[in-house]
Amino acid sequence: MCGVFGIYNNSKAAQLTYYALYALQHRGQESAGIISSNEGKFHHHKGLGLVADVFKEEQIASLEGKAAIGHVRYSTTGANSLQNAQPLFFKYQGGNLALAHNGNLVNAHQLRSHLERQGSIFQTTSDTEVAAHLIARAGYENSEQSVKESLGMIKGSYAMLFLADNKLIAVRDPNGIRPLSLGKLNGSFVVSSETCAFDTIGATFLRDVEPGEMIIIDQDGIRSERVSSYPTQATCVFEYIYFARPDSDIEGLNVHTVRKQLGKRLAQEAPIEADVVTGVPDSSISAAIGYAEEANIPYELGLIKNRYIGRTFIQPSQELRERGVRLKLNAVRKVVAGKRVVMIDDSIVRGTTSGRIVSMLREAGATEVHVRISSPPVTHPCYYGIDTSAKEELIASSKSIEEIREHIGADTLAYLSTEGMLDTFKDRLGAISEATQCCGYCEGCFSGSYPTEIIEQDKHSLER
Ligand code: AMP
Repeated sequence: MCGVFGIYNNSKAAQLTYYALYALQHRGQESAGIISSNEGKFHHHKGLGLVADVFKEEQIASLEGKAAIGHVRYSTTGANSLQNAQPLFFKYQGGNLALAHNGNLVNAHQLRSHLERQGSIFQTTSDTEVAAHLIARAGYENSEQSVKESLGMIKGSYAMLFLADNKLIAVRDPNGIRPLSLGKLNGSFVVSSETCAFDTIGATFLRDVEPGEMIIIDQDGIRSERVSSYPTQATCVFEYIYFARPDSDIEGLNVHTVRKQLGKRLAQEAPIEADVVTGVPDSSISAAIGYAEEANIPYELGLIKNRYIGRTFIQPSQELRERGVRLKLNAVRKVVAGKRVVMIDDSIVRGTTSGRIVSMLREAGATEVHVRISSPPVTHPCYYGIDTSAKEELIASSKSIEEIREHIGADTLAYLSTEGMLDTFKDRLGAISEATQCCGYCEGCFSGSYPTEIIEQDKHSLER
C-alpha cells in the first residue's frame, strides 16, 4: 500500500502536494517524498517517516515549479530504506522522469532478472524501479509512448504517476485494483489515490481514472488513452473494508457508507443478544455503527486508541505488557463493565489483535465478549500491495472458525459471508458488469482467486 498525489499547473504545486500527502498518510507511514518540476528543472525531497517529520517549511519552499508528484510509502516489496523511498527520479534519452507508484507488480522479479541479465544495474530493491528501466529502454523520445509500451510488460496492480519535463501522466492497471481519482482545482488538474486529499486542498472530484486508462495532463489540458484494450475491473475490496479513509469515495461508493452497510449485513447474518456494541478504532467504527443500528443495541465507545503513537514508539517489554501497560488501545471500563459486549473488527489476519482486545475487554469487566468480523475470513495472501503476509501466517488459512474463536478467547465468533460482502456492492456491481462483463472487485484474499496471473518466482518474493 502507498498513497500517490499529483498536480499540474499550480504555482503552489509542492505545498498543495504536502497537504494532500498529509491526507493520505494512513496509506503509508514509512517514507514520504515530493518531486516538483520547474519548466523541466526537477527538485526533490524525501525521507523516512511521517510527512510531518520529513518536510519542513524551507524544504517545501525549495520545491519550485508548477507541477509536482508526491508519495507516502508502506513497504510490501523492497526493504524500508531511503533508497526505496519514492518518487523515484531518473534521466534517460527522453529527458527527466519522476515516478510514484501505489500497488505491487506480480512479475517484477521475473522482469528484473531478465533486465539484470542484459546488463541493467538497479539502485533500489523496489518493484517500481523495474518500470523505470522498462521506460528508459523503450527507446521513444516521447515519454507517454515509452510509458505505454513498458506498461504492456508489467503485470499486477498499479496506480502510477509520472512527471515528465512538460507533462503529468497518470495510469491505472487494467483491473483498476488500486484506486486513483482525477480532480480539478481552479486551473489545475490533480490526481490522487483517494478523494479525501481533494477535500483537504479544496479541489473538486471529476471522476475516477478508469482501469487500463492513461491520462496525460499538459499545457493543452487533458487527454485520455487506453493502455489496455480489455479492461476487466477488479477493484480491491480491502480498500473499502480496512485501508481507505471513511471520507473517501472509491468508484462512486463512500467508504464509510460501505462499511456501515457491511456492519448491518453482519447483524442480519450473525445476531446475538448483548448490551453494547463497540468497534476497534479507527477502521471498524463505521461497521460497528451499522451493526448496532441494525441490531438495535446501543453503540458505545468501548475502546479508545491513542493517536499519538508514531514510528518511534518503543514497544513495551513483555514484563510491562503483562502488567497491563496499554499505550495503543485501552478499554473504557465504565462502558463495558458488567455488560455483554459485541466487539466488531473489520478483519482478522494473524489473530493477534482480536485476542488482545478480547482479554482487555474481559479484564475491564465485560461479562461476555462476542466478536463479529465485517469481512469474510482472510485465507489467502494479497499479491497486489496489501500486507496481509504469507498463507501460513493467516490464521483462517489453517484453522476453523471454532478454532479461531478458541484462539482469541471469545464467547462467540462470526464473520460476514462472502455473499453478504458482495451483496453490499451489488448496485455498483451491476453497473460495472454491464460495462466490462466482469466481476467488478478483487476478493483474492478471501477466495484465492486473483484477477491476474502471478508468476511462481514472484509469488515467493512477494510472500515475506
Ligand atoms: P491481526 O492482529 O494480524 O489479526 O490483524 C487484524 C487487525 O489489523 C485488524 O484490527 C485490522 O483492522 C488490522 N489490519 C487488517 N489488515 C491490515 C494490514 N494490511 N495492515 C495493518 N493492519 C491491518
